[in-house]
Amino acid sequence: MPRPIEALVHADALTHNLARARAAAPDARVWAVVKAAAYGHGIARVYEALRGADGFALLDLAEAQLLRELGWRGPILLLEGAFEPRDLELCSRLNLWHVVHHVAQVDWLAMHKTQAPHRVFLKMNSGMNRLGFTPMAYRGAWARLDALPQVDEIALMTHFADADGERGIAHQLQAFADATRDLPGERCLSNSAATLRHAADAQVRADWVRAGIMLYGSAPDFPSHDIAHWDLRPTMTLRSRLIATQQLAAGDCVGYGSTYTATAPMRIGIAACGYADGYPRHAPGLAGHGTPVLVDGRRTRLVGRVSMDMLAVDLGALPQAEVGAEVTLWGHGPHGSVLPIDDVAHAAGTIGYELMCALAPRVPVKLAGAAPAD
Ligand SMILES: *Cc1c(COP(=O)(O)O)cnc(C)c1O
Repeated sequence: MPRPIEALVHADALTHNLARARAAAPDARVWAVVKAAAYGHGIARVYEALRGADGFALLDLAEAQLLRELGWRGPILLLEGAFEPRDLELCSRLNLWHVVHHVAQVDWLAMHKTQAPHRVFLKMNSGMNRLGFTPMAYRGAWARLDALPQVDEIALMTHFADADGERGIAHQLQAFADATRDLPGERCLSNSAATLRHAADAQVRADWVRAGIMLYGSAPDFPSHDIAHWDLRPTMTLRSRLIATQQLAAGDCVGYGSTYTATAPMRIGIAACGYADGYPRHAPGLAGHGTPVLVDGRRTRLVGRVSMDMLAVDLGALPQAEVGAEVTLWGHGPHGSVLPIDDVAHAAGTIGYELMCALAPRVPVKLAGAAPAD
């Protein structure tokens, strides 16, 4: 028997979450953001479930090529654009739309030989200071692109730094609006957080939204809101089984570094999942607040440190749990139980994005339709 750990990708949940993005921005078109192997889910696995999107947005040219091989003929947007002049040849060949965020990319386009002019998304740095032309430089870049025979339509784009938080998007929205007021072209501004929290404003919905994390069943603004609040469903389950149990006496310790000491008799279980599977090593065990985990669909907590291939869980409230019991690290458990990835991420001091992207290659992944029955 193989090691009992596996991950499931839930196709129906992906489709549901895509419908939520549409409902949040009904008059906009939706980019399904599938960068980083569809946030760890695998592009080939999510493709069928997400093909109702208006386009796919990603970074990696190999992933764009894979989408074409899967049969996608619609729009594909490269969110970081070309990394070197040669990349534009693939854009021409595969009809990829691409972001232009830096003057070097304009120079490369000017030198590029192509029969078919490119659709580009001109990115403004409206305050995040990662990619894009400053509001001052933006119109100059637009005029240069507009004059190039290599360029077809120019869409206008920016990205928000604080759509999920207190600071909000008003200052960036204003900078973008001021610098683009009389420029023609489609607009594309919002990530998941802006789409869920701010899209009552038509300027925020604009012509396109870029839905990423919400498609994968994680709330971009957790813990302010959870997936139940946004009506999103988990799309990834990581599950394993107990491969041992231990009976501890008061004073016994658990795991590397003996970071947990039992204060009373206590039973624990050992699950076949560790940091080499992508589970976060820094997830705290009991003694601190502990990290949630389901055993047989019932919520309990980690005990001690996570090791490479194993972790320990408290079975104090689960006297029936024996070797073979199902352990849900996140996602759907048996008997209709759910452990949102955000709960685990939050306990471990990180975000759902990081956990799903970190799913390790050694974990076999199955594509599931509906939530698994027990
Ligand atoms: C990743 C990314 C998104 C999607 O962000 P989410 O928070 O996952 O919705 C949108 N736009 C750009 C430019 C991105 O890089």
